Amino acid sequence: MQCRDKSEDNKNIVREREDVVGLDAAILMHPDVWVASGHVGGFTDPLVQCQGECKERFRADTLDGEACPKCGGKLGEARQFNLMFKTFMGPVEDDAAQIWLRPETAQGIFVNFENVLNSSRKKLPFGIAQIGKSFRNEITPGNFIFRTREFEQMEMEYFCHPDEAEKWFEYWVEFSMGFFTRFGIRKEMLRLREHTDDERPHYATRATDIEYRFSFGWSELETINHRGDHDLKAHSEKSGKDLSYFDEQTRERFIPHVVEPAMGADRTLLALLADAYDEEEGEKEIRTVLRLHPEIAPVTVAVLPLSKKDTLVPTAKRVHEILSKSWNAQYDDTQSIGRRYRRQDEVGTPLCVTVDFKTVEEDDAVTIRHRDTMEQIRVPIENLAAAVGDQLEAIRKDVTS
Ligand code: ATP
Repeated sequence: MQCRDKSEDNKNIVREREDVVGLDAAILMHPDVWVASGHVGGFTDPLVQCQGECKERFRADTLDGEACPKCGGKLGEARQFNLMFKTFMGPVEDDAAQIWLRPETAQGIFVNFENVLNSSRKKLPFGIAQIGKSFRNEITPGNFIFRTREFEQMEMEYFCHPDEAEKWFEYWVEFSMGFFTRFGIRKEMLRLREHTDDERPHYATRATDIEYRFSFGWSELETINHRGDHDLKAHSEKSGKDLSYFDEQTRERFIPHVVEPAMGADRTLLALLADAYDEEEGEKEIRTVLRLHPEIAPVTVAVLPLSKKDTLVPTAKRVHEILSKSWNAQYDDTQSIGRRYRRQDEVGTPLCVTVDFKTVEEDDAVTIRHRDTMEQIRVPIENLAAAVGDQLEAIRKDVTS
């Protein structure tokens, strides 16, 4: 186990909150972890194979009819297929050494619960959050990065008193919705869907999905699970280690209940891209623009000298140096200025700063061009950083309004 520093990638959940710590647990863990969690016994999807021409395999619960969606052939009986990837620990490939790649980050948090509790000296309620790779041998990966076999999860286990779990469940559902809208996803493209009794995972007493309206239909971005005491109890029983919590104030000992917001980084990225993508009718051509939130945009500000001429380059480099102290700034002097604007629009760069001949010959000022409105303002270089900050704030408000 490694306690992560409160780094950028955990900013919104870990760094900005007193009650959450970050963790980077192992991908390969003792096989009993997955026995205790129920994954060895039940982490399955129903698999069917076409008996007709194509012999293709499908996940039965995603099919509408009785026939093969590819060739119309008859489908065979469904059988349960475990989604965990197997591998071997050590040099001998026998059963004793068989282990699994983690199919979720959550279990690494539960088995480290006591470590974190003792080392961080947190009191309930508190959360342990983790971003990291998970692996699932999905029967039908696809829809670009919506479903892949190796993906990045962002999960948090929020431990609390059993009487407070319902309250925290509601809290984290609302917080999670706010997380997506905070980064610019439009409200009307999101919806909540509470799981019915028969689809809820075996460990959950309540579960709600946050879904995004992708081009292929409403699909899950995140699930918020009320896991009760299922996991800590299961790991206590399997390992013989008492994972109960003692509340010094009430003198009460109990197994904490857990609320879990579990989301995928890749699916979130796909939703952010889909939501930001726009094609705008221009006078001569269609302008493709990614209206990304400034905190999401890979380049925050691009510095574009009007030409590659020696007279402009030193000033443009100076401007780049000023801006790169605070933001992801990119310097680009290849091709025509029009093409460079379009390129930056396509990757969602909120602002472009242009250095022209007037800058070096007359006013030591530059032009800031706005991605969304294409408006341009002239700003003295000495005020540039402040002006860029103001413009970014305006875009941030626009994108989240
Ligand atoms: P699905 O029903 O789509 O298979 P799930 O309910 O099994 O997903 P969870 O176990 O709740 O998924 O995992 C939490 C999150 O991890 C999901 O909401 C999703 O964002 C992400 N995720 C799960 N499986 C995949 C995958 N194969 N590829 C990309 N992201 C995934």
